[in-house]
Amino acid sequence: MTATSEPAFVRELPGAQTPRWGYWIRFGESGIAPGDEDGILQLPGEWPEQAMALGMWRDLPVAMVHEQGDVNWPPARDWLARLPGAQADLLATALQVNAWSRDHRFCGRCGSPMSRLTHEFAMQCQACGHRSYPRISPCIITLVTHGRDLLLARNARFPARRYSTLAGFIEPGETAENAVRREVHEEVGVDIGRVRFFRSQSWPFPHSLMLGFFAEAASRRIRIDGVEIADAAWFTPRRLPELPPSHSISRQLIETHLSAVAMR
Ligand SMILES: [Zn+2]
Repeated sequence: MTATSEPAFVRELPGAQTPRWGYWIRFGESGIAPGDEDGILQLPGEWPEQAMALGMWRDLPVAMVHEQGDVNWPPARDWLARLPGAQADLLATALQVNAWSRDHRFCGRCGSPMSRLTHEFAMQCQACGHRSYPRISPCIITLVTHGRDLLLARNARFPARRYSTLAGFIEPGETAENAVRREVHEEVGVDIGRVRFFRSQSWPFPHSLMLGFFAEAASRRIRIDGVEIADAAWFTPRRLPELPPSHSISRQLIETHLSAVAMR
């Protein structure tokens, strides 16, 4: 989302012959170390032994390093909320590569140890050759509208007055559009007419890819599931509840709708 033409972060692994040197990000047990210029990047230097390359940052290799102990570094969610676009992309990548390498130390097919390949994000089994790649889990996130009005819901785990859009994982064999219809029906009992793709956003907790959609309601009657959703209601653009933070795709769906109806 940076305005510059040259992307700061390039998804190209430096390869085997690269010197173990460049920018790096320090992961602790529950947070990430502050780096240069209010960001998460440590200035270029020699990488520690356990460094994992992530790609290239401003033409230099960049890696992440997992360190033991907890030193009260800010948690990843806080960083993601305030980092500029390119560093947020880099952090989302680092979080997912970190989770994937931690969860794939052994082969899911035969149980033997896996080892990391250097030229791509892949772990290979030393015994049977099975390869595993970072898992990405597609989710739909959708703003249901009826004319100018917005259907927003309060998840049982949200802060007290916050309402948001609806979201859920896409099931095996399901299209994203059908997942929108199914999730909306399951969570609030509303039938959907037209569905329109908005944009997507990586959400690395632990490895979601949020696919944003606008969905036009065919009916207004709400019937909440009472489990995941604590409350759901129609809101007019003039009377809105507390909304999700501005860097979330949920908020971007809401703001885009509000701008569109304001111009009508
Ligand atoms: Zn194996």
